[in-house]
Amino acid sequence: MNLTHFQEKMERMYAKMQHQTNAKTQQIQGYRLSFTSKMDCFSCDLPAYTSCKQKSEVCYGILCKGKRKGSCYGTRGNFRYSNCKLLRDNNLRTLLKHGAGSLEAWLVPTLLNIMPDFFRFHSTGDVQNYSHLQAILSTARKLPKTNMFLPTHYTKLLLKACINDNLPRIPKNMQIKLSCIRGTRQEKRCLETQQAILSRQKNANVHLAYVYRSLDELDGLQFWACPVSPKNSGFKSCTEAKCRFCFLPIKGNVAYKYH
Ligand code: SF4
Repeated sequence: MNLTHFQEKMERMYAKMQHQTNAKTQQIQGYRLSFTSKMDCFSCDLPAYTSCKQKSEVCYGILCKGKRKGSCYGTRGNFRYSNCKLLRDNNLRTLLKHGAGSLEAWLVPTLLNIMPDFFRFHSTGDVQNYSHLQAILSTARKLPKTNMFLPTHYTKLLLKACINDNLPRIPKNMQIKLSCIRGTRQEKRCLETQQAILSRQKNANVHLAYVYRSLDELDGLQFWACPVSPKNSGFKSCTEAKCRFCFLPIKGNVAYKYH
């Protein structure tokens, strides 16, 4: 067989593989990626608030001078557009109907086609259950070159997996950030969860993500202050700020200004 024939054969094989992958992907209707301009990366979103199994103080707004203000960011701003809502509803419906395996079966080839450097699970919404968590971590394992970010409030799920010795291996390219407000019960739960995970997987990248209104609230803490979240920062995205702290395996907590 000469070189031209060999190249043609390889091209045909590649086209066939592509076709098979697309056909398999199309069987699973409903999942769609989102692209958030602030994070400047693709994400796989679920409905804000309603799909969050364990709500925390962050979801209900932030306490300011004894009054609760605001609400989950995922229910405000651009997130309110009906086409974005529909996409997130479809993602959840598909996940519940076909199971978490279907998410992995769709997401892995989809991301392999794009090969993004960064990917976020859930700009809005959260992990649904244990098999969803398994599918997320297994997807990350299959895409070791993509830096992935999983923000979550669902500490109960992670703690339960630790207690039952069922915690799936957290790959190096997966950063889990446990969201909370300083001085709340959720912060305590996040610290317990972080310790429980690290006692089982000492190199796992699991840190806390603090939401603050004023930096005084974080007195005495060491953290990376998100350069984009203050409204007057002048940066519109992580890329503009040249920051990928949330996605990279850097040890340390992060803090976002409430918006
Ligand atoms: S800390 Fe960095 S990576 Fe995280 S949201 Fe802010 S700018 Fe983006």
